[in-house]
Amino acid sequence: MRLPKLRELKEAVTAVMSPRFTTRFPATPCVVPERYRGKPEFDLDLCVGCGACVNVCPTKALTQVDELDGDRPVRKITLRYDTCIFCGNCQDGCTTERGIKLSNEWDLAGLDREAMAETHENELQLCEKCGALIGTKKHLVWLYEKLGPLAYTNPSLLLAKNAELLKEAMGNGQAVPADVQTSDFMRILCPKCKCELNIRL
Ligand code: SF4
Ligand code: SF4
Repeated sequence: MRLPKLRELKEAVTAVMSPRFTTRFPATPCVVPERYRGKPEFDLDLCVGCGACVNVCPTKALTQVDELDGDRPVRKITLRYDTCIFCGNCQDGCTTERGIKLSNEWDLAGLDREAMAETHENELQLCEKCGALIGTKKHLVWLYEKLGPLAYTNPSLLLAKNAELLKEAMGNGQAVPADVQTSDFMRILCPKCKCELNIRL
């Protein structure tokens, strides 16, 4: 049997006498740096449900289902953080730049994988002529606000904003005059129907 070298023996004794290097987690909370990449979190006020983050997610931790049947067509976006690799693509590729952000939350271990998912819904806008999917209502309103005066070249965006204002007014209990609704003389159309309309008329 080889005797331990003196240097190794010294290192072992020093290690035994030194304070511990490991953290005392979970007894003591572990504080991570400010820019640590933890669980992605949606800001539901700033997310417009466009689905751009779903397209750039490399692990399919983000998925999207468009439910077109029923009275209220909706887009459901699901985040499964058990399959997220915290790459940050969703945050970098977010249309509004603030709809989803990686948080500092990292202690995500659990036994129930179904509990590691969250789903958010956004109402969809369909073409009023052919029923084709255009996008979420919230996305149309966001485009209206982003374009400013340029939005007045697109009646569909005006109508989407108008519908939102009417909804807000009704939510606040305000009376909405039935004879001043833009939708009485215009309809929200998808690009194909709009093109057809413009060519034929
Ligand atoms: S951080 Fe990366 S893996 Fe996780 S949800 Fe976002 S894009 Fe997908
Ligand atoms: S890209 Fe941004 S705005 Fe669009 S669905 Fe994802 S988080 Fe929401």
